Amino acid sequence: MLNSALEARHLQMRVGRLTDSWSANSLAMGLSQGFIEPLEATAIHIVITTAQQFIAAFDDGGFGPKNRDIFNQRIAGRYEGIRDYIVAHYRMNRRADNAYWRDNATHDHLSDHLKAMITAWFTGQDLEQEIIRLNIGGYYGAISWYCLFAGYGVFPAEVKMRAPLIHENAADMARMEIFMNSAARNFSPHAQALIAL
Ligand SMILES: Cc1cc2nc3c(=O)[nH]c(=O)nc-3n(C[C@H](O)[C@H](O)[C@H](O)COP(=O)(O)OP(=O)(O)OC[C@H]3O[C@@H](n4cnc5c(N)ncnc54)[C@H](O)[C@@H]3O)c2cc1C
Repeated sequence: MLNSALEARHLQMRVGRLTDSWSANSLAMGLSQGFIEPLEATAIHIVITTAQQFIAAFDDGGFGPKNRDIFNQRIAGRYEGIRDYIVAHYRMNRRADNAYWRDNATHDHLSDHLKAMITAWFTGQDLEQEIIRLNIGGYYGAISWYCLFAGYGVFPAEVKMRAPLIHENAADMARMEIFMNSAARNFSPHAQALIAL
């Protein structure tokens, strides 16, 4: 429950990315290159990807334009893929307790890729195939998208529900049970401490 008497400290964020991370003989990395809000903690991932892809592109074509444009496109695509996945968290939220969450759940400022993913989910399509069709597999895989949508408790209408296709992984409930029980052991000392209190 939100306590409206608490004062919030609002942080200003300048969100966005450079059009080109690599321009002439300069390469921007990290905050000089762009910033997306940290919900998915992907800043360091982008730094590493930028370094790796730059090395590969430079080795292949030096400072010339040969691989620069492809590199810039790939980095821009990665930012946009991450942005879409983060926007989806806000768009799928079902909180109704204040205007902030309600507005986020209803706005229409969505990229074509994100619209396509949302449509694919609600019409019961194979998300893996849709990711391949959109060519966005480098950022978040099908499992991440299934977890995101299902995690927010939004599902296709009953009539659109279907059994998993052969190539779609069905959850191994027995393995999951073992994993949950093992993970729970890490928490038992805390649980006992709580009971002792
Ligand atoms: C609390 C917190 C948790 C985070 N967790 C994650 C996470 O889990 N995963 C993730 O991916 N990202 C995370 N991030 C984000 C990530 O740490 C940053 O995006 C990343 O460190 C930015 O790297 P950078 O090199 O661009 O900038 P910085 O790391 O800020 O480096 C800039 C450097 O420049 C120096 N500097 C500044 N001005 C000058 C000047 N005039 N002259 C000389 N030097 C100067 C600064 O001292 C600093 O050393 C987190 C950030 C914070 C604050």
